Parts: sequence; C-alpha cells; structure tokens
Amino acid sequence: MSLPGPFLTRLREIFPAGSLFTDPADCWVYGYDNSKRQVLPDAVVFPTAHEQALALVRLCNEYRVPLTARGRGTGTTGATVPLRAGVVASFERMHRVLEFSPDNRYIVVEPGITNQAVQDHIKPHGFFWPPDPTSAAFCSVGGNLAYNSAGPRAVKYGTPRENALGLRAITGAGEELRTGVYTTKGVVGYDLTRLLIGSEGTLALITEATLKLTPLPETKRTLRAVYVDVNAAARAIARIMAQPAVPCALEFIDGNAINLVRRYSTAGLPEGAGALLMIEVDGFAAAMPPQIESIRAAAENEGLLEFSVAETAEAVEALWQTRKALSPTLRKAAPKKINEDVVVPVTELPALIAGLDELSKRYELPIVNFGHAGNGNIHVNLLYDPNKPGEDDKAHACLDEMFSLVLALRGTLSGEHGVGLAKRDYVDRELDANALSLMHAIKRQFDPNGILNWGKGFPEENSRVHSA
Ligand SMILES: Cc1cc2nc3c(=O)[nH]c(=O)nc-3n(C[C@H](O)[C@H](O)[C@H](O)COP(=O)(O)OP(=O)(O)OC[C@H]3O[C@@H](n4cnc5c(N)ncnc54)[C@H](O)[C@@H]3O)c2cc1C
Repeated sequence: MSLPGPFLTRLREIFPAGSLFTDPADCWVYGYDNSKRQVLPDAVVFPTAHEQALALVRLCNEYRVPLTARGRGTGTTGATVPLRAGVVASFERMHRVLEFSPDNRYIVVEPGITNQAVQDHIKPHGFFWPPDPTSAAFCSVGGNLAYNSAGPRAVKYGTPRENALGLRAITGAGEELRTGVYTTKGVVGYDLTRLLIGSEGTLALITEATLKLTPLPETKRTLRAVYVDVNAAARAIARIMAQPAVPCALEFIDGNAINLVRRYSTAGLPEGAGALLMIEVDGFAAAMPPQIESIRAAAENEGLLEFSVAETAEAVEALWQTRKALSPTLRKAAPKKINEDVVVPVTELPALIAGLDELSKRYELPIVNFGHAGNGNIHVNLLYDPNKPGEDDKAHACLDEMFSLVLALRGTLSGEHGVGLAKRDYVDRELDANALSLMHAIKRQFDPNGILNWGKGFPEENSRVHSA
C-alpha cells in the first residue's frame, strides 16, 4: 500500500527527521528477520518514548494503516515481517533502564534494551534475568516478551512468562494500560501480563516491562552423559527431572547430530554414541557434590556409555563446543534447513525421535535433532536442497507429517520460537475451534481494526486493514 498524504504529514509531526524513514533503501532492512522472509514497509519509525508510541498507534488506527512492532529482527518465524507493508515501529532507540530495585528484585526497562544489557546491568548486584536465548547479545527484551523466548535455563527458572511482573502497553485501539504488579504475588483481575507475553505484537505494543530478577548462584557445574540410543537417554531425562537437584540446563543431542559434529568436537565422543545429554547444576559450592551424585544416580541405566564431570573451565568449554558446533555445522550440511522447535512430554521423546527417523527414511531427507530436553523442547532440523526438483514440496509434506506426529504425542508446535508466519497455518490443528474463536474475540477487543501485526500468530478471521 502507499501511505495517504495527510497520514504522512501527521506522522512527520510525531517523528521528526532522523526518526522516520520512507526511502525504500532505508526501509528495506526493516522488512525482514531471521526467517529470511521479507516485505518492504512504507515507513519505519523509531519511537523513543511511550507518548510517541501512543500517538503513533492512534494515528495508524485512525487511518487503518498496518503497524508492526520490531525489536532487533532476530526472530526465526517471520513475526516482524510487515505482510501488508504500512509502518514498522523499531524499538531499538527505546532502551533505557527506568528503575532498578535490587531489594524488591525487579528492574523496569524499555522494550528496546537488549537481553545482554539487562544482564550486564544487574550482574554486579548479584542478579540475573533467567530468559537466555542464544541471541541474548542482539535481541531485545520486547522481542523476548512478545515471543516468550527462552533458552536452556528455562528448565529450572522458566520463560519470560514466569519472569515478568508487569507491563506498560498500548492496544491496537490506541488505549494505554498497565498490567501486573511490582510484587511476586498478586491476583487482582485477569492476568493480562501473561496474555500479552507471547502475543507476538498482535494485541498491543509493549513500551515498558517490569522484570523479575533471580539471585546469581554461587557456582555451576557441567556434566555429560552419553547413551547408546535415544530410549536410554529419554529414560534418564525423565528420572533426572524427577529428582530434587533440578538442573539449570538439560540439553539433548541425537545420534545424527553427534555424527555431524564429531569431526568438529574436541570433547571426544565415544563410538556407538546414539544420544548425548549436557547437564548443568547450579547453587552453593558446598551443595555441588550431593547434587552431582543425585544426577549421576538418575542418569545411570543400562544404556549409559559414559558419565563425566567437567573439572576445569577448558573441560566445560570442550563439552559445550559439541553443542555450539551444531548450528554452524548444519549450515554447511545442506543448502537449506527447516528448523522447528516442537515440544512433547519428556516420556514421549523416544516416540518423537523414532517417528522422525521413520519420516527421514520415507522422505529420504536427513533430520537432525537437538534441544532443551528437560522441557521436551526439541529443535528438529530438516535438511534439503531446494534446487533439486520436487525437494521443496517433499520437505513441506514431511514437515506436515511431523506436526501431526507431535500433536498425536500430546505435544505443541512451538516451545520458544513462536508462530509468526512460519507456523500460522498449522495453529488450528493444535487449538480447538472454541479456543481459536475466543482468541479472535480477544484480538478484536484489543485491536478492533486489525492494524497490529496483521496475519501473525493464527489465521486471521478477516481484516479491515488496507490491502497491499
Ligand atoms: C542466532 C539466534 C539464536 C536464537 N536463539 C534462540 C534461543 O535460544 N531461544 C529462543 O527462544 N529464541 C532464539 N532465537 C529467536 C528469538 O525469538 C529471538 O532471538 C528474540 O527473542 C527476538 O527478539 P528481537 O528483539 O529480535 O525481536 P524481533 O524478531 O524483532 O520481534 C519478535 C516479535 O516481537 C514483537 N515485538 C518486538 N518488540 C515489541 C514491542 N515492543 N511490543 C510488542 N511486540 C514487540 C514483534 O512484532 C515480533 O512479533 C534466536 C535467534 C537467532 C538469530
């Protein structure tokens, strides 16, 4: 679409020179994210204050102009791609710490601050914010909240939903609101904080967040358990999660992934390894020996090939190197990969991996799996060559069957990467019709003219926004 003249005039009143781009050459880079999908927006603006974002939403709502919030564009499911063009609001210049209260264990921040900047601010005071996506150095807290992004620590400390106390936000109707509390308890009213977290910018723009902080543990130890097969590893995962020394990371790598990284790893992977667990425990130094012993006992079964505890920083690095080598290695292994982040109950992990192996054989496509095993959250990587005739269709048919498999195992389509565009058309397989209909009603209530992040999260009921 092209923006109406009067709209642009008023947009320029809200966003002076330097905080508004309309030249396609400037706007181009704000139309894509790590999903590699791209749509050119008509304008990009850089709010620096809540009031400016409020004026923006009200103007877009008045003219029915599509508006897409953007953090740092690291999302993998296309949730920031402005499908109907319009205006992209990049929050990268709204990155202040507004308040830090160590005694009450919270920090109030603007949404554009990076995850890492929050960690750097609070670490000297003995705290951390648990959500730890690998992209922490680059991604924004606003993006973390809107996607409910997490990482390995979620297994012990939870996701943004468990680590946010309240928000300041602006609905698509241009109404400002505060949600939540400044305390760790509070039950007044519906929980709008957790409704907005994970809503992928479809209900409201987040302009402020009160994050719940956790004291840094005194120390951390890294363990590795290698198994003959996935079944043995899965039995261990269920037992590890059922004993009291809750790990702060419980990562899984399957046999295909082990073979792929074997030549890049200095950690020494035993022959015949069919699955590997990386386990971390944290807490007081004095509590480490009993915690490690408890995990060792839970990890023990007839399929265990090796259990080791890293005794030096170099040994920890060597253990993690195997896990970290996976993403770059996968990029070299095939021209294209479809990377999903499905979740199943931990007892269903063997059935999931067996089902994926069967799909891999039937479709003749390599599938490599690793991920956050303690949550049953597996990154499934489907490798293929889109330049080979028919391969793209084959990969997507395989993906379709994979989602059916996950749902049959009582799983969910996404644990942390979100729905965005990538999984939008599969969502009605997971959500029942009544739940979906309530969600559409919530969307209409927050955003009656459908201006916010059109076409994301679930299939649109209909839309009153200008078409491109
Ligand atoms: C190398 C790499 C590693 C990654 N590792 C992980 C990982 O370990 N775990 C994981 O969960 N994810 C991971 N991700 C993906 C993850 O979703 C993002 O890194 C991150 O959370 C997105 O933050 P962002 O600032 O880039 O948001 P964007 O991609 O810009 O936006 C994401 C969503 O948030 C919305 N949004 C942004 N700001 C606001 C706001 N102020 N108000 C309302 N909505 C808003 C957008 O509209 C969009 O829907 C990784 C990505 C990369 C590239």
